[in-house]
Amino acid sequence: MKQPAKDPKLIKQQRQKMLQFRRQLPIYSGREAIIETIKANDAVIVIGETGSGKTTQIPQFILEAGLASHELGTIAVTQPRRVAAVNLAKRVAEETSSTLGGKVGYTVRFDDTSSNHTLIKYLTDGMLLRELLMDELLLKYKVIVLDEAHERTLRTDMLFGMIKNIQRIRKDKAAQGEDVEPLKIVIMSATLDADKFSEFFDMAKILYVSGRLFPVDTFFTKEPQADYLDASLVTIFQIHLKQGPGDILVFLPGQEAIETLTTLVKEYAAQLRRSQQQVLACPLFAALPPSQQQHVFDPAPENTRKVILATNIAETSITIPGIKYVVDCGLAKMRGFNPKIGVESLLVHPISKSSAWQRTGRAGREASGTCYRLYTEDTFRELDDDTVPEIRRCNLAAALLSLKASGVDDVLSFDYMDRPSRASLVRALEELYSLSAIDDRGHLTELGKRMASFPLDPTFSKVILQSADYGCTKEALAIVSLLSVDSIFYTPSDKREQAAEARRKFLHPDGDHLTFLNVLQAYWEVKGDLGWCRDHFINVRNVKVALDIRDQLVRFCERNNIPPQVSCGTDTDQVLKCFLTGFFRNTALLQPDGSYKSVVGNQIVKIHPGSAMFGKRAEGIMYNELVFTTKHYVRNVSAIQSSWLPEAAPKYFNNMRASV
Ligand code: ADP
Ligand code: MG
Repeated sequence: MKQPAKDPKLIKQQRQKMLQFRRQLPIYSGREAIIETIKANDAVIVIGETGSGKTTQIPQFILEAGLASHELGTIAVTQPRRVAAVNLAKRVAEETSSTLGGKVGYTVRFDDTSSNHTLIKYLTDGMLLRELLMDELLLKYKVIVLDEAHERTLRTDMLFGMIKNIQRIRKDKAAQGEDVEPLKIVIMSATLDADKFSEFFDMAKILYVSGRLFPVDTFFTKEPQADYLDASLVTIFQIHLKQGPGDILVFLPGQEAIETLTTLVKEYAAQLRRSQQQVLACPLFAALPPSQQQHVFDPAPENTRKVILATNIAETSITIPGIKYVVDCGLAKMRGFNPKIGVESLLVHPISKSSAWQRTGRAGREASGTCYRLYTEDTFRELDDDTVPEIRRCNLAAALLSLKASGVDDVLSFDYMDRPSRASLVRALEELYSLSAIDDRGHLTELGKRMASFPLDPTFSKVILQSADYGCTKEALAIVSLLSVDSIFYTPSDKREQAAEARRKFLHPDGDHLTFLNVLQAYWEVKGDLGWCRDHFINVRNVKVALDIRDQLVRFCERNNIPPQVSCGTDTDQVLKCFLTGFFRNTALLQPDGSYKSVVGNQIVKIHPGSAMFGKRAEGIMYNELVFTTKHYVRNVSAIQSSWLPEAAPKYFNNMRASV
């Protein structure tokens, strides 16, 4: 059916209303100054309170001022989050009275609305990195806006260095008379160490947009809260029943928590009397269908208070009008590396102080407000000041592999915002070389390319990739996942003996790796029966976390054409040989006096008393963890034969022999 034509008068009215809205944003008064500064400078840093209009307005200012066009090149605005890219593009399309995919569009993985007509494109940082592989100098763009710069993900850090380099090359080319437009860079953020960024971008000009922030009363809990969902629920209804009008924004770590709390809030809300003000629960998280995401922006119906239950997406990327109360559980899911196996996944972490203040600020945008922190003041004091850049958190070998896969070959002279020491860079490169991820000229190998596509530390991705050759993918996936959690066992201090006895039947003579496998097989046989887990002192929660990670890895294998079910059956030596291809450096050989000496570094290492190998003698051992207390202890240990080593890492051991 054809849509009825819109009344031109109505369209005009809507445009007027939109223009009025734009004009009252704090950033509007700085419009001329922003345009002039961008005109006069190659790189500009804009710091402004969340909601002041940076992301939606600045690209429009640039366009209106003629600083970008189809002839000069268009505007790209990066976002660390996919939901933000989509929502912001929609909003700006609306503000410019255009349809999405016309003047304004977005590009996120598996979803691209941009077209040849697009002048302002919102895209995730991952997508811009991908475009870089196709168009080295990003000539399509005249202005690149790197938004939410404070997030400091590995991807944004990579972009900082790469875009800065592109700007220099384009400037040189233009100066030499080539038909290339110089590139303009705009860095935006709500909170930022502006000077550090300015220095990195050759003393870029810094602009501060003054936001309007009203005072916000902040409260802490007296005691730590055992259950933040419960505490959130109580706080929401205390506000609702005792405080004046205004919507509530609750920060929760993730989708699961949001869904649970949404159900609870709805149940409680149903018990409110008709005469009372009602409650409307609105969830907001990345995986929510876009049509439902829009609900959070709709004004609450009459006599109703909106309660928005959101992830940290509402912290700085998206601003919701009408918020007067903020409830902050102090946690966030962050894309991070699980340090145990380097699996890149979303993990729940305490937030940083600057995140806490951002959350608090959401309550004071339109009038004074209140923020309830569901943690104690002492807990707050112990939080990190800022989120630690991902490059400092993850394994450097993994970061370098990722850089190389994105087309940065010379990782030593790459322009890092937080430069790792040269020694640690060289060590990481050596590690990649010995794993055969790069060749002797430092170029990525075929294996290295495949390793880079896995969300794991390189040692573990190598094990999974090699498992196809060793015919033990099923076993490798199970063991890698189990190694990702603290312990699948649960040992109460008063029942040590009993716990050890109950688990004895899982013990494998070759050590911990195969013992873990036995436990998982038994767990699957009883379908995770809780009584069985209790009787055998199995930590159900950790096993479940591990199985979750296993599911992710299975999907990665399928995408990489590695059949995940291939099993070596009883030929379990295959499993240990396969692990050695990643962990050949974590090995030690038995000495005549019964001690073990590490192959790398010649250190005496002791087997941890908790290991299945404790007190046993094997020709050699392989371990996943080295803990240093008073002695070098190794954990997660298995028996190996020294003759397996050269096969597992020919490059490494042949070189060693040559250098001896
Ligand atoms: P900043 O980037 O400075 O945090 P934004 O440009 O994202 O600010 O947002 C500016 C204003 O636009 C906000 O105050 C917000 O209320 C409004 N806004 C943004 N997106 C939407 C939307 N989808 N619906 C309604 N209002 C929106
Ligand atoms: Mg923004």
